[in-house]
Amino acid sequence: MNTCIFCDIVSDKAAAYKVFENKHALAFLDIMPATEGHVLVIPKEHGATLSDISEKSVKETAAVVQKVAKAVEKATDAKGYNILQSNNSVAGQVVFHVHFHIIPRNKGDGLSFSWKRGKLSPEQGTALKEKLHQVL
Ligand code: AMP
Ligand code: ZN
Repeated sequence: MNTCIFCDIVSDKAAAYKVFENKHALAFLDIMPATEGHVLVIPKEHGATLSDISEKSVKETAAVVQKVAKAVEKATDAKGYNILQSNNSVAGQVVFHVHFHIIPRNKGDGLSFSWKRGKLSPEQGTALKEKLHQVL
């Protein structure tokens, strides 16, 4: 039987520092925080990635992400925050139940999210736009 630690937190089978919950989503402290006030927001519906859950869950969870992010800003006096959401191991996902990280940021906190910036050519831009239009 597959077990999911975040489903266990939803059902109180596992302990967590829950900070907010409603019918569809739950927010709790990340147990290995990147910065003080690092919170995870999850849909109560289980799904491994964002592509696997219902549009309703996405909407409800996004609303809770905004609500809790505003609370985290106030409570920690952070000067900003990052929202991080990883899908599949190739993207760094470790827990396979959708979750949004709210990571408070302050000057000199030592965190960095950086990548080498490429350059989109007009040919690539046009080809990709067409491809996406077809799929959408
Ligand atoms: P990700 O790499 O996006 O899958 O991140 C998973 C996050 O879940 C990590 O930041 C972990 O610290 C956090 N985490 C794992 N287990 C727990 C738990 N039982 N309670 C709170 N946070 C957890
Ligand atoms: Zn789950």
